[in-house]
Amino acid sequence: MTTGFAAIPASGSYVLRNARAPACLIEAGSLASDRDGLALLDIAVEDGGIASLLPAGTPALDALPSLDLDGGIALPRLVDVHTHLDKGHIWPRRPNPDGSFMGALSAVAADREANWSAGDVRARMEFGLRCAYAHGTAAIRTHLDSLGKQIGISWPVYAELRAEWAGRIALQASPLFGIDAVADPAHMRAITQAVTTHGDRLLGAVTYMVPELDAALDTLFRTAIENGFDLDFHVDETNDPSARSLEHIADAALRHRFRGRILAGHCCSLSLQPPPDEARIIAKVRDAGIAVVSLPMCNMYLQDRQRGRTPRWRGVTALHELKAAGVPVTIASDNTRDPFYAYGDLDLVEILREGTRILQLDHSDRDWVRAIATTPADIMGLSNAGRLAVGGPADLVLTRARDWTELFARPQADRTVLVNGRAIDRTLPDYRELDHLMASAT
Ligand SMILES: [Zn+2]
Repeated sequence: MTTGFAAIPASGSYVLRNARAPACLIEAGSLASDRDGLALLDIAVEDGGIASLLPAGTPALDALPSLDLDGGIALPRLVDVHTHLDKGHIWPRRPNPDGSFMGALSAVAADREANWSAGDVRARMEFGLRCAYAHGTAAIRTHLDSLGKQIGISWPVYAELRAEWAGRIALQASPLFGIDAVADPAHMRAITQAVTTHGDRLLGAVTYMVPELDAALDTLFRTAIENGFDLDFHVDETNDPSARSLEHIADAALRHRFRGRILAGHCCSLSLQPPPDEARIIAKVRDAGIAVVSLPMCNMYLQDRQRGRTPRWRGVTALHELKAAGVPVTIASDNTRDPFYAYGDLDLVEILREGTRILQLDHSDRDWVRAIATTPADIMGLSNAGRLAVGGPADLVLTRARDWTELFARPQADRTVLVNGRAIDRTLPDYRELDHLMASAT
């Protein structure tokens, strides 16, 4: 058992003194913040919730047991809005043959056909959830590969896990299939049925520049409107500038006057558009109310890869320009130890650290931490997660780091995670637990 550096008082009511928290994540009026956008405060915890958020040194709290964090950063538990729990950890039995996007696609398809029984999917999804929980994640949206027989296998398992994990991690799932499958009415019936029975009013697909794209988008938007679903797309995950399905999604949303939420993931080729085209597409995305999630580690791994040639492009979308235009922007984990990304552990502190480096989020706005907290929580419709609020849960990630450079320079392996005011066991599951599933490659 490991609970990190912080010795949390045993009583139900206590104070975390001298915590530094991002002012942009605090819902408690205006607190003075430093050049990193961090406010020094005392956090009073009572019965698992946050009782008050006051400037550090407030004498009224003197009678309570306390822990002095000595200026260490406290974050709310974090929100991962784009993951693939069902693909996670298959790398040992199904590595990407060449590190390419096509290699990933075909390797996953082969593994799914051969191995994705309910027991296999459940064990790997649960492993991923345990990692995320130990790192301090409060909520996860996962995509679920949803083609043919897999629909009937993965969705019931997902619904069971969502119920089992309620109170620890809030889960949402979106179906994942290529946009060409939309033309098959039987497929769309099966998807709508799975989402209605086991899902979270969330529909999605992978968009490609196929001739039937607009017709397929019309079907998806109509299905979403008829059933009250939100939408989540995988979009333009390529270095081909002629991939502009993001603009087609925005056009469809405007055409259908869609009122639900839309999230677009990846959008890599947006950053390779000529500036006037990029500006036009971004304006449409804003007008259509679409939020964008960048997956920096997965993009860096897959994009611009050519054996023997040094990559010249980071693979990420035009996230700064989207944010400047008023588009809600977020970053997330994407894949973990599968052919789309060989590494990763569903650790949002790592996502923000690597995202800061890959996307140069430093020397920029001071509120980028919202991209792993408030913004994805709002996209998931979770009003209680990803923020520090009086009356909200005392769900916190506590660190010894006093500013962003101390936070990002180290992995924060000694962090303490509080759920309802209590420190949880941060022991990560051992990969050996999955060894019995890794022998089954064919
Ligand atoms: Zn993805």
